[in-house]
Amino acid sequence: MGRFRDYANPARSTVREFYRLNHEGQTLDFVRRKKKEYLSLDRRKMTMWEALELLDTLVDDSDPDIDLSQIQHALQTAEAIRADGHPRWFIVTGLIHDAGKILCTIGEPQWAVVGDTFPVGCAFSEKIIYPEFFAGNPDTRVPEYQTRLGIYEEGGGLDKVHLSWGHDEYLYHVLRDHLPAAALDVVRYHSFYAWHRDGAYGHLLADEDAARLEHVQHFNPYDLYSKDAARPDFVALKPFYEDLVGEFLPDTLQW
Ligand code: FE
Ligand code: FE
Repeated sequence: MGRFRDYANPARSTVREFYRLNHEGQTLDFVRRKKKEYLSLDRRKMTMWEALELLDTLVDDSDPDIDLSQIQHALQTAEAIRADGHPRWFIVTGLIHDAGKILCTIGEPQWAVVGDTFPVGCAFSEKIIYPEFFAGNPDTRVPEYQTRLGIYEEGGGLDKVHLSWGHDEYLYHVLRDHLPAAALDVVRYHSFYAWHRDGAYGHLLADEDAARLEHVQHFNPYDLYSKDAARPDFVALKPFYEDLVGEFLPDTLQW
């Protein structure tokens, strides 16, 4: 993986503590409660730009690579996709893929918003980052959740699986009526590294998940490797991206 996702980077020792909190707190019950709390989307109306600007003060504690503001990360990801000549829906996906992190600005702790996601309600894979921290997760004491299938059916499909709660699932629900399916796959599953990078949880997947995997894997390098030290010029780029957002998304969104 080279110089990205370098979890040994001592400058990012907060990452370890982040994953301890995350792995101890993300239980099936917690995920169900957060879905109830947030997925009615009745908190506020906001444009995508307002959301991105809200985010801009946040530095992601789960990111071992670089202290980069969220708007910079959004623009770098989108610009890298644009530079490779990809279609406009893919560029807009790059821009907005982390907008769900606004959860951090409305009182959610980072461990419940960012970082890698993983299924709850079944055994935790050893392929998840810092698997040793699951020892502190109360679900490991629930025998039903500790088999390879847990509460799920063999081949039941990813959309039936409860992933640990965070910005992916939240933003998917905000955008589900507005973006093409491939974009929504990226939004919903881009943090599920144990699956899209390491091939875990094959027994939970249905046929349609093969296409999802392709979409997420196509996107991932832009999310990771666009983290360049050079800061994109927000003011210069804004007109292009305002047009692009206007092409795909309504003026205001329900959050
Ligand atoms: Fe993300
Ligand atoms: Fe990202």
